[in-house]
Amino acid sequence: MTDRLPHALSRRDLIARSAFGALPLLGLPTADPTAHATTDLSSQPPSSARPPRTRDYVVEASAALVYRNGAPQLIENASVRVRDNEIVEVREGRIPGTVARINATGQLLLPGLISGHTHAASGSPTRGLIEGGRSYQRPIELLEALPDDLLDDITAYNVAELLRSGCTTHVEMSLSLKQAQSYVRVARRWHVRGFPGGMVPGTARLFPIWRRSNDAVLTASVPDTMAEIEANRLFAMAVNGAEDGLIRPMMTPHATDTHTPDTMRAVIAAARTLGNGIHTHLAQGAAEARVTQRLYGQSPAQWMESLGAFDGPFFGAHMTGATGADWDVMKRHGGVYAHCPSGGGAGNSSGSQPYPEALAAGVRTNVGIDTHSNDYIENLKLAVICGRARARLLNGATGSTLPLPSVQQAVYGATHVAADGLRRPDLGRIAVGAKADLCTIDVSGLLVGSGAVGPEPLNNLLYASGLAVRHVITQGYVQLFDGRLVVDDEARIAARGGAAVRQIWAQLTSEGWFKG
Ligand SMILES: [Zn+2]
Repeated sequence: MTDRLPHALSRRDLIARSAFGALPLLGLPTADPTAHATTDLSSQPPSSARPPRTRDYVVEASAALVYRNGAPQLIENASVRVRDNEIVEVREGRIPGTVARINATGQLLLPGLISGHTHAASGSPTRGLIEGGRSYQRPIELLEALPDDLLDDITAYNVAELLRSGCTTHVEMSLSLKQAQSYVRVARRWHVRGFPGGMVPGTARLFPIWRRSNDAVLTASVPDTMAEIEANRLFAMAVNGAEDGLIRPMMTPHATDTHTPDTMRAVIAAARTLGNGIHTHLAQGAAEARVTQRLYGQSPAQWMESLGAFDGPFFGAHMTGATGADWDVMKRHGGVYAHCPSGGGAGNSSGSQPYPEALAAGVRTNVGIDTHSNDYIENLKLAVICGRARARLLNGATGSTLPLPSVQQAVYGATHVAADGLRRPDLGRIAVGAKADLCTIDVSGLLVGSGAVGPEPLNNLLYASGLAVRHVITQGYVQLFDGRLVVDDEARIAARGGAAVRQIWAQLTSEGWFKG
């Protein structure tokens, strides 16, 4: 969820020299691309065309981004052995033996991708309706009013999309406790790794508080907001650590301008009890920054810091209204900025969120989904392409020296950088002892590649989409195999998700919403 406030080209105070300008390009060691057309692996007997029956197998990929000596490194001809929850062996070349194999020839093996900001259930109900400038408010109000079975059908459709695009870990701000419960029901069914929470205030109460013209509305909201915090805390405690640790709820306040010191303190206390941190929209527009300054005399991040919100993991989305003070707080505490290039709908203002400024400030920076597109590869690509456009335009217009974001930075932000922000060094890495969260992407085929894996396959991601993802694995469980969802019936998920969304469209039609 993001404001549509126009980004401020004049925010020159955010502009600083890149701390990442000297990052080395990750290239494969050989300069001969034809060398990758045939590999040792492809000369082996054909691998099973079915997913392995147990969590004991080897993934064989033409290239992989592995983690060695404290840094990511691209290798070719990679074999990764998975047993139960973990990666137990990583090497170049074949791992001998009769163990089951997953064939990823022509593909790039990456750690499972981490979205630092999702509202899973709200993607498909708004997509295709808001890109011309309509508000998402009414569709998501109708989503919230659905009975649980229909809400679960929509949640399932959207979570399936996230998996389809290689996104295995969701820092999920469901728009209410009800939607968080729906998310957890679906995530538990499919072995999804989720850090969920219900947004507070939830979507049913949010808009009059957020769009208030009188702060008395905020003051009057405190008792009901306290009740929501407590209800979220109780649910989160009940599922914390469920599914062998896959479910780790965070507390998810909407933003600083919809909370008082009392309610934010209650959020922070609940987050400390849970131990998984806080996830919020942070300085998501100039209006939030202005209101927070007026009410509390500080910037959004400064105010949250003063209350103790940065004691644990902290994810802040959007930051379109951030100032240098906000970046300073985030950097000092290792907070993660979730940049969401399709937040607000594809082509809307979120593509120009301050991604280059965050990199320049040295803040941990992730690419998040927000709401309307669940295609993680597409969002990775948008972050790089829009970020480069933003930096070039600002540099040309103002003489600033913002860095041009690279695909390497985007992939690092989607993997080990976000994992470090979660204080989870066992995630976001292909390394022995890490959790077996993996995805493979075809980087050699039509439209994405050149008929062979090239010498710098991360760059091919700039021509890919989620449909190029072939295999997806979380904690050893294969969820997508050869481009097919295998944890459930993909056609049934689409049919049920579509039927539920059609009810929302019918209601919108009856209200004359499409004529507005
Ligand atoms: Zn959001």
